[in-house]
Amino acid sequence: LFTAVEMAPRDPILGLNEQFAADTNPNKVNLGVGVYYDDNGKLPLLECVKKAEGAMMAAPSARGYLPIDGIAAYDAAVKSLVFGADSEPVQSGRVATVQGLGGTGGLKIGADFLKKLSPGAKVLISDPSWENHRALFTQAGFTVETHPYYDAAKRGVNFEGMLAALKAAPAGTIVVLHACCHNPTGYDITPAQWDQVIAAVKEARLTPFLDMAYQGFGNGIQEDGAVIGKFVAAGLTFFVSTSFSKSFSLYGERVGALSVLCENKDEAARVLSQLKIMIRTNYSNPPIHGGAVVAAVLNNPELRALWEKELAEMRVRIKAMRQKLVDGLKAAGVTQDMSFITTQIGMFSYSGLSKEQMVRLRNEFGVYGTDTGRMCVAALNSKNIEHVCQSIAKVI
Ligand code: PMP
Repeated sequence: LFTAVEMAPRDPILGLNEQFAADTNPNKVNLGVGVYYDDNGKLPLLECVKKAEGAMMAAPSARGYLPIDGIAAYDAAVKSLVFGADSEPVQSGRVATVQGLGGTGGLKIGADFLKKLSPGAKVLISDPSWENHRALFTQAGFTVETHPYYDAAKRGVNFEGMLAALKAAPAGTIVVLHACCHNPTGYDITPAQWDQVIAAVKEARLTPFLDMAYQGFGNGIQEDGAVIGKFVAAGLTFFVSTSFSKSFSLYGERVGALSVLCENKDEAARVLSQLKIMIRTNYSNPPIHGGAVVAAVLNNPELRALWEKELAEMRVRIKAMRQKLVDGLKAAGVTQDMSFITTQIGMFSYSGLSKEQMVRLRNEFGVYGTDTGRMCVAALNSKNIEHVCQSIAKVI
């Protein structure tokens, strides 16, 4: 049965992790994977999470199956976070939300549902995008194409190219958009450019799928979520996937969601019933722990305030590291202008370094980023920044 099975290529980012783990360089720094580490290089366990878990452990409960769409209080909290508790979509009940296995799970439930709904549609993702976007929508049976996004020469977004591609896309094309903190480039479009994207999406009758994996890492929870309000105001119906992996530092708990904004409450009920089939036939129902923690935090004013404070600390520390990187590179003798690093946003920086330079960084200095030049600035800290700056200066 298995004699003809070929060896699949290693996941490029997780493969990098394996190489990092085997590296004996004492100064090694892992800027490959998209994970936030604190200034001591440790994966944080947020205080709000610890408190919520403490309360749960003090009153342990048996674990029955969850409903197919997850914990009701969790789904309600996600809706309020994404659309606003007092927003018209939430108030009128026209959002269908299901708990997902991370942001990836939310995307996959949406992709599987869309494949049933519009089997012939094409999917457009940005060039470049999070690699799993292509893989996931391909695996769901779609043809995936790209629209222009990164402009290396300009060190920014080729917005005209992006807009032209959206305008030229056939009606019904599914367009996956990074709601904030674009992965891998770190370049977001401006609010005014979002308005143009939304107008183009509406005019061309495309199906928007917003991937919100980093809400709160850009400019703030409200600020990063504002783009959702713009899509609502335009009268569009659309998909939003949410991930709490980074914003709650709960990577391994697989906590995320899918929300679908529908025309009305009746439509939302029908869409929800279909999403539940996607879940039921894949993994039946989601796990309890991560969703229960996030629901406990988001639905308790005190824990919620603590979460917002801790998320803000992560955001501020990343921004400070970006500035330190720019200053440190200058001090290490890099003459080219590297200030673009502070105009980027979120966890990543497209450094502009070539594959050869990234390979040298790894092999000679133990500094690990992806071959595309992407570095996770959320893994920089006051101890490793000097080594990273010196190493980059040497390969430049
Ligand atoms: N979308 C993007 C753009 C991401 O960067 C990630 C995480 N790397 C995800 C989705 C998936 O998040 P999760 O780990 O919660 O599945």
